[in-house]
Amino acid sequence: LFISFEGVDGVGKTTQVERLRQYLESRGRTVVMTREPGGTPLGVALRKLLLHNVSSSNVSSGNVSDGASPDSGTAGNPLADIAPRAEALIFAADRAQHVAELIRPALDRGDVVITDRYLDSSLAYQAGGRELTPAEIRNLSLWATNGLLPVRTYLLDMDPSVSHTRLQHEADRMESAGDDFQNRTRRAFLDLASAEPDRFRVIDAAQSIDQVWSAIQSDIDDLLRT
Ligand code: C5P
Ligand code: MG
Repeated sequence: LFISFEGVDGVGKTTQVERLRQYLESRGRTVVMTREPGGTPLGVALRKLLLHNVSSSNVSSGNVSDGASPDSGTAGNPLADIAPRAEALIFAADRAQHVAELIRPALDRGDVVITDRYLDSSLAYQAGGRELTPAEIRNLSLWATNGLLPVRTYLLDMDPSVSHTRLQHEADRMESAGDDFQNRTRRAFLDLASAEPDRFRVIDAAQSIDQVWSAIQSDIDDLLRT
């Protein structure tokens, strides 16, 4: 059983992933809980690269710990001018490793896998947000994952200008990308959900944590019965 959670930043995906893990474990299932980007050691390195904050990179760029020359030409943030296609490929590389190393083996063992973001995030952020061609990002993502799709995807939907006020940390590179970007991303998620109503469940994330959870729980109970 492969389940993903999607939605813009600050909607509460991580909280609900954890609730679902506890619930399924209490029902005797072995659960692998993971996230993108960063579900594997390679992914952790790519995540650091992708989400590196421009302002904090300037603070730490003089801090060379591996003996490399501070003057090597990559001082500052190498992602500052990243081309949208290059960014899409790094997310795809993270996902390819994630499936090969963690998700596919876990599903083959019969475990439940719950992931905090999966390929729909690339369709929403790289196609919707960065305005690359959706069909191309979809093909790239399906190539990276060897066609693996979740059985169920919970889209926690909310106005990004509201959800972003919930973030506890300083905004990362994506989170500081601006309102138009965030609104295109939200719209892309909703369009994906209407295109695949069997896989998606859209949940209003402006509700309380308990209300969001009870919507997920009743759906999961149905899913486990089938
Ligand atoms: O942990 P969190 O979900 O916040 O970190 C992932 C970050 O990467 C998010 O801020 C999201 O905006 C961004 N992202 C993206 N494209 C993806 C997946 C995530 O831009 N395919
Ligand atoms: Mg985030």
